[in-house]
Amino acid sequence: MPEVLERPVPRQRRKRGHLEAMPEGRPRLFAERPGQVRLIPCNACGGMQFTRLFEKESSLRETFQVVRCKCGLVQVNPQPDLKAVMPYYAESYFKKRTDRGYDNYFSEALRDEIRRVFTLNLMDLKFFEYEAKALESGNNRSLDVGCAAGYFVEYMRERSWRAQGIELSRAAGTVARKRGLDVTIGDFLTSAEMIPSTYDVVSFWASIEHMHDPARVLRRAHEILRPGGRMLLSTCRYGILARIRGKAWRYMNVPEHLYFFTLRGLAKMARKVGFRVVKTVTYGSGMTTKKDAGRVYETIKRYADPTVKFLNQGDMMALHLEKMS
Ligand SMILES: [Zn+2]
Repeated sequence: MPEVLERPVPRQRRKRGHLEAMPEGRPRLFAERPGQVRLIPCNACGGMQFTRLFEKESSLRETFQVVRCKCGLVQVNPQPDLKAVMPYYAESYFKKRTDRGYDNYFSEALRDEIRRVFTLNLMDLKFFEYEAKALESGNNRSLDVGCAAGYFVEYMRERSWRAQGIELSRAAGTVARKRGLDVTIGDFLTSAEMIPSTYDVVSFWASIEHMHDPARVLRRAHEILRPGGRMLLSTCRYGILARIRGKAWRYMNVPEHLYFFTLRGLAKMARKVGFRVVKTVTYGSGMTTKKDAGRVYETIKRYADPTVKFLNQGDMMALHLEKMS
């Protein structure tokens, strides 16, 4: 039976406490860098009643606990803060530069494939119906949040959008900027460049599960959209495949992924901040993905996967939301 955690047990209150329970001989990586791991209230409901699902070891051999809130949101909790997760991004981006080389990501074949899959997704989400009307009336500003190397920024630019992106990782953002894309390197929540009621489309492709405060991200996206503007969002979906696979589920990469939403739960969070759900789709059949892959690679892999719809039980999902005025 899973143990119900009603409040932090003492060892979790202490900094790095969750590692102290680990068997001897494992590296204590947190001792070598700043950053904290703390039990935090649920991002969706503010509650503190969690059921422990399992523990999982990360690519850096730290162990994290995955819990489910009473409201249903599955999350890494106690949760590492931004400083504590940074080494995971540093490592994966470094790997990509050395092992694979960024050039590979921009081969024409790969770009065509990514474009094809974006198109399929947007068709499924009934985005193009909105797009035609928006562009015709001159509402043409788009922002891709967590844009990595800028694939979607470029895609939208080619479709006549005044397309911008924002990316926290300097390595990925620099690649996008070098390619002439309008990409800001910084934090979406605090960047002063995003002015309220400015954008017609704000997109998050496989990025919200990496973010520490998804509820605030949704509120911020709502704020910078014009009334009637659209939010496009994809993330891994905590559904039947995830429950069957448990800690072996292909998207259970901790602590890179901090939150695992159900479709219903995410739609509820979006409605709470003032969005209407226009269309949702699930896809992905549970095929393998590269272990320890970073965001750029992950995104490509996801979109390169055939968009198999397995009885509408795919373990990826995408949502098309409208900002209600
Ligand atoms: Zn909750």
